[in-house]
Amino acid sequence: MKASASLPRFFLEGPRRFEVGEVVAIEGAACHQIGRVLRLRSGQHVVLLDGRTGASEAELVEVGPDRALARILRAAPCAPEPAISVTLLAAVLKGERQDWLVQKAVELGVARIIPLLTERGVATANGAKPERWRRIAREAAEQCERAVVPEIVDPVPLVEVSWTGAKALACTERDGRPLPALLADGDRDLALLVGPEGGWTDVERSWLARQGAVDASLGPRILRAETAALAALSTVMSHLSWPLERVSR
Ligand code: SAH
Repeated sequence: MKASASLPRFFLEGPRRFEVGEVVAIEGAACHQIGRVLRLRSGQHVVLLDGRTGASEAELVEVGPDRALARILRAAPCAPEPAISVTLLAAVLKGERQDWLVQKAVELGVARIIPLLTERGVATANGAKPERWRRIAREAAEQCERAVVPEIVDPVPLVEVSWTGAKALACTERDGRPLPALLADGDRDLALLVGPEGGWTDVERSWLARQGAVDASLGPRILRAETAALAALSTVMSHLSWPLERVSR
């Protein structure tokens, strides 16, 4: 039998703790994936995630067209969550670039994504697909073995967001101090702001400064917005999350 780390993983709707021995019903997208896409059968094992407390290895006891049943066997491993909570506030990008951004941000350990509507952004609230982004986030979290699916809220105009209590860093092209120099060991709650394809307007930049966001630079080149978001996230995670994650293992 495969080790549970390589078994297919599924987040179930309506999270709650699973008890060993309990039989859990699997419906919707997860059931479709189990029965139709992966063609799993009774007796095969999967990992079920409740979205909060962790993962459980389970044995399929029934696989039907609309519902599968699985018996919970034991706890299964999950990647520990980063010790720092990073909210990515990034301008909504067009089409596949936004999908890619969401997928990679989840892999890199983002805690929450707030899609921003900005003055120079090409995306509008009507064209936004938050349901699609949430599905991509769930699949990315399953793939990279996270225990939680990062929250993705509906797009919000920049001037309506807030980041109470968090240290806010606004990626602002070549201005600003180098991002690594703005990070401190004790940081636990970070808001990373990234502008749209066309960049921030002056009005937006002064609004950000008035809200206390500090300008951060990722180097002398102008990066595409999705590159900037992912470079910023990787920088933060590599500075702050590794040693603490190792300790928690
Ligand atoms: N159109 C703008 C570039 C926008 S890049 C211009 O030509 O000047 C899109 C977003 O990526 C920016 O708003 C910023 O948030 C981020 N970004 C790009 N390069 C960056 C860098 N070197 N450092 C920090 N942020 C950067």
